[in-house]
Amino acid sequence: MTESKSASTSVTKSVALVTGGSRGIGRGICLSLGQLGWRVVVNYAGNMTAAEECVKMVKDAGGDAIAVQGDIGVAADRARLVEQAFAWGGRVDLLVNNAGITSIVRADILDQQEDHFDRLIAVNLKGPFFLTQAVSKRMIEQSPDDSGTRGQIVIVSSISAYAASTNRGDYCIAKAGLAMTTQLYAARLAELGIRVYEIRPGIIATDMTGPVKAKYDALIAGGLTPIKRWGQPSDIGRAIAAVARGDLPFSTGEVLNVDGGFHMRTL
Ligand code: NAP
Repeated sequence: MTESKSASTSVTKSVALVTGGSRGIGRGICLSLGQLGWRVVVNYAGNMTAAEECVKMVKDAGGDAIAVQGDIGVAADRARLVEQAFAWGGRVDLLVNNAGITSIVRADILDQQEDHFDRLIAVNLKGPFFLTQAVSKRMIEQSPDDSGTRGQIVIVSSISAYAASTNRGDYCIAKAGLAMTTQLYAARLAELGIRVYEIRPGIIATDMTGPVKAKYDALIAGGLTPIKRWGQPSDIGRAIAAVARGDLPFSTGEVLNVDGGFHMRTL
């Protein structure tokens, strides 16, 4: 029986594509990969300054990077992103579907506007589904490593995949859909040498949660999460590093809860 590739041999040629890599959780992921010596395609939507800053940080950490603009909610942008990623990297060993937006308006589901719903679903659900489809088709063509791995895919969902927030219904629906997207691709791609994981962050300190900081400060202090602190982008980065190193070779379709224990029911 062939042993799985060890952590130390998995970092030499590796290329990652991280959507929404410019800020927040995505930046934490890019930095972790940089520390492992990876080459990282840092995708962003509009904030080029933040993306360039992230590229520099990845290089300073010991990796290499380029910034590629592209709206994950737009098919033509996804196609261009994939072309540019493979042209620069020669291959993609890890796709991280991280880019996402919060509800355009936090409104009761009884008042949900259809155009807002459509845009959120395009970016947060349809985009990752079709980007995963496009990248996995190219991964299948890549030569496998010693353990038979052709690539790995991570989908960043949320505790909102199962926790209902009636004023962010579109967001919750998209994240629940990502959970099934993970299961579907994990089942389809396993025999082709591609493993797929879902990372479910809890409450993480980023620009996205900035506007609701006071609310979550109080909830966390009141015991919402067993580990009483905000999560940091580096917490997600460290989980990604475990995947990137190949430390989960006999798992696929797995959910990694990085949430301070929020998902547990306690009595
Ligand atoms: P953030 O601070 O708002 O950063 C969002 C990132 O996504 C930025 O890099 C942004 O690019 C990019 N982006 C936004 N729309 C995009 C689009 N249409 N196409 C491509 N890139 C796009 O958000 P975050 O908190 O880091 O969240 C990252 C992911 O984690 C999201 O999927 C979010 O749902 C999920 N999540 C977050 C939390 C949390 O508590 N923060 C919890 C659970 C899950 P620009 O810099 O160009 O704007």
